[in-house]
Amino acid sequence: MPDDAPIENVRAAIAQRLRHERALGIETVAPVALERRAAPTAASESILYDDVELKEAPAAPEAPVNAEDKAARWAALEARAQACAACALHRERQTVVFGEGNRDAQLVFVGEGPGEQEDKTGRPFVGPAGQLLDKIIGAIGLKRDDVYICNIVKCRPPGNRTPADEEVALCRPFLDEQLALLAPKVIVTLGAPATKTLLGTTQGITSLRGHWRLYKNIRVMPTFHPAFLLRQYTDANRRAVWSDMKQVVEKIKE
Ligand code: SF4
Repeated sequence: MPDDAPIENVRAAIAQRLRHERALGIETVAPVALERRAAPTAASESILYDDVELKEAPAAPEAPVNAEDKAARWAALEARAQACAACALHRERQTVVFGEGNRDAQLVFVGEGPGEQEDKTGRPFVGPAGQLLDKIIGAIGLKRDDVYICNIVKCRPPGNRTPADEEVALCRPFLDEQLALLAPKVIVTLGAPATKTLLGTTQGITSLRGHWRLYKNIRVMPTFHPAFLLRQYTDANRRAVWSDMKQVVEKIKE
């Protein structure tokens, strides 16, 4: 890399190299420290784009070099998550809800955190909100097995409270690594915490939903969380989510 390469490129190259070394079992830098430096912040809102500005297709997402390397990285990542006690959420969890689905999916859903049913089963989105998410996935002609589903924190916040900023920051490296491995065409963020975390924005979900944004070089469609829809099952909210999902389908077909 040239000496005058943009600092973002240098950081990305260092992060990629260190992720690779970690997959090989070489822990040269604490994962949290590394990924927290690379995580988007509110200052990175300048990298967000409205769909009108997205005239050129973004570059293909970073993908692992080969299937063997990819499988090793998945295995190492999930093992680290299952053993993780980095934040206070590990104290009351029954299981670590790592995420599940098709690891070659073009579409990934990112939610907030496990609820009671998810904590019991170790699977994301299996409670009432999950059943509604299954219906949404079905409505766009896909099955749950066609997509990948995960959350911004892997352990249940007690009482289903919103995860604290520190908990999200400490768990963030798992999500970033999952998305790097998945390299999907589209990410749908479900609700405000997931959207704000992934996009590094302070805007509310009502103004963000329905508009394309970028996470690194992957397109992101923010929409309402299914749990919110269940609480406020109005025509307007259902139409909004359906409108967002129609845009997602069109983008995947491109
Ligand atoms: S929520 Fe994330 S960072 Fe916190 S203990 Fe669970 S896996 Fe670790």
